[in-house]
Amino acid sequence: MSAMDTRHGIGVSPGIAVGPVVQVRPPVRPPDKEPATADPAASGKQIRRVLESVAGTLESLAGRAGPTAQEILTATAMMARDPGLAAAADKHLAGGSGPATAVDAAAEEYCAMFSAAGGYLAERVTDLRDVRDRAVARLLGLQDPGVPELTEPSVIVAHDLAPAETASLQRDLVLAIVTESGGPTSHTAILAAQMGIPAVVQLPRAVALDVGTILAVDGSTGEVFVDPDAGTEATLIARSERRAEALGATSGPGATSDGHPVALLANIGTADDAERAAVLDVEGVGLFRTEFLFLGQEIAPTLEEQVAVYTRVFQAFGPRRIVVRTLDAGADKPLAFADLGSEENPALGRRGLRLSAERPELLDTQLTALSTATRTTGADVRVMAPMVATAEEAAWFARRVREHGLPVAGVMIEVPAAALRSRHVLAEVDFASIGTNDLGQYTLAADRMQGELATLLDPWQPAVLDLVAAACDGGRDTGKPIGVCGEPAADPLLALVLTGLGVSSLSMAPTRVPAVRAALHLHDLRTCTAMASAARAARSPRDARDAVLALANRLMSDLI
Ligand code: PEP
Ligand code: MG
Repeated sequence: MSAMDTRHGIGVSPGIAVGPVVQVRPPVRPPDKEPATADPAASGKQIRRVLESVAGTLESLAGRAGPTAQEILTATAMMARDPGLAAAADKHLAGGSGPATAVDAAAEEYCAMFSAAGGYLAERVTDLRDVRDRAVARLLGLQDPGVPELTEPSVIVAHDLAPAETASLQRDLVLAIVTESGGPTSHTAILAAQMGIPAVVQLPRAVALDVGTILAVDGSTGEVFVDPDAGTEATLIARSERRAEALGATSGPGATSDGHPVALLANIGTADDAERAAVLDVEGVGLFRTEFLFLGQEIAPTLEEQVAVYTRVFQAFGPRRIVVRTLDAGADKPLAFADLGSEENPALGRRGLRLSAERPELLDTQLTALSTATRTTGADVRVMAPMVATAEEAAWFARRVREHGLPVAGVMIEVPAAALRSRHVLAEVDFASIGTNDLGQYTLAADRMQGELATLLDPWQPAVLDLVAAACDGGRDTGKPIGVCGEPAADPLLALVLTGLGVSSLSMAPTRVPAVRAALHLHDLRTCTAMASAARAARSPRDARDAVLALANRLMSDLI
């Protein structure tokens, strides 16, 4: 009997799932030198047939999608049927192109026209490229790229997933997500956790897995079993049941066993996220990533659009706090309408608050919208800036927030300079939230998008913990609250260390809150403080984790 194929990736969204593989196919390009068509009229007919079949697929997807996706897919189907598109392809056929090249070129001409027209049409470029990619693949006799239409609950396997692809997954049929690349702080990982879908990134040879192969995925440990036997499945299920029982035993506001409060908050990216999170046992929102609302949008959202979505989010949370982060565009979160052109090192370039300084009208519209929605809902809204490096930047931002009548201004601490100088930064604002994802990237000089640097990006890196400690010292000195809203807040063991370092709130994907709450309930503040010292005294991330585990209650093994 052959041994079971067990692989190890990085678990980024907890939960167990067992199901068949569906592979996400990358887009195909027309062949470099596609031969000219021998019969342009026949090729023209073939292109029309293919575009019609693409329209049919999009319509059938629309039939099963939610209202927003339905509207988009129906409009996209109409673009596939636009006689002008086929006519443009005819011209390329007549000029000596092969069918795939002709469709590709015709679609690109339309995209250029749409972009130049701006407004609603410019926003349709991504949709038209979807039509193009499907048509090119079909003309070459290949399957459509992207996430195939799901007919049964499946495990989605991809090299990597674009955030937009993750966001548009058919939630009810996706059991788990497994990617071969992607880091633990990539936005795909974050979105999967947000949607409560078990996910593993960095799984070796994932894209080589045959479609239909059964996988058992453990999104907590990162283990993936290929064709699992009944015993493995039973062990995984038993572990998840024990965990569920431990999580069900606590509820309400976060606190250590001796009553030291640590607010447990949700990270959200959309109004749908807000409505899903609001019915859960969370104390509010610690990070509303507003740029997630506008991913893929080619034009800036209007004031009215923004007021509508912020109002929905604020209403969902009633009196609970909502920390809104202003647009964090650039680098790993590109927004077409906030693009300042290419840069050598986008992560070190004009991103986050720096972009708001260069495009003040974007910040002004956003603050006006936030202020209107705050006034009409009466919500407890606190606004913070991303990527703040200096006290001057913090002061500039706080002034703008207050000028818009928003009473509480804060900053994210995700640049080492801001952590080291947090006393001065905090003196300018009302609160801070530590973004450990970027803080890790900038401390270790390791691109968070580069999965192969995962060891350097390990949130247990003692150097990152030293910077969190420095930031917390500034909080203590100024009497201002300081939280953590990066992914480590969701790790039950690391959450204890952060508590010991002095943070007063932890914000995470809402599905992770119960495990962190249970971990806090098992330990008193003194133990958390001892854990923080042990982690900082360690030489490596692994030593830090081992040292903390040695101090932890043994019941923690079911939570991590
Ligand atoms: C962070 O950097 O830790 C953070 C919370 O922000 P984002 O992941 O959106 O950059
Ligand atoms: Mg960040």
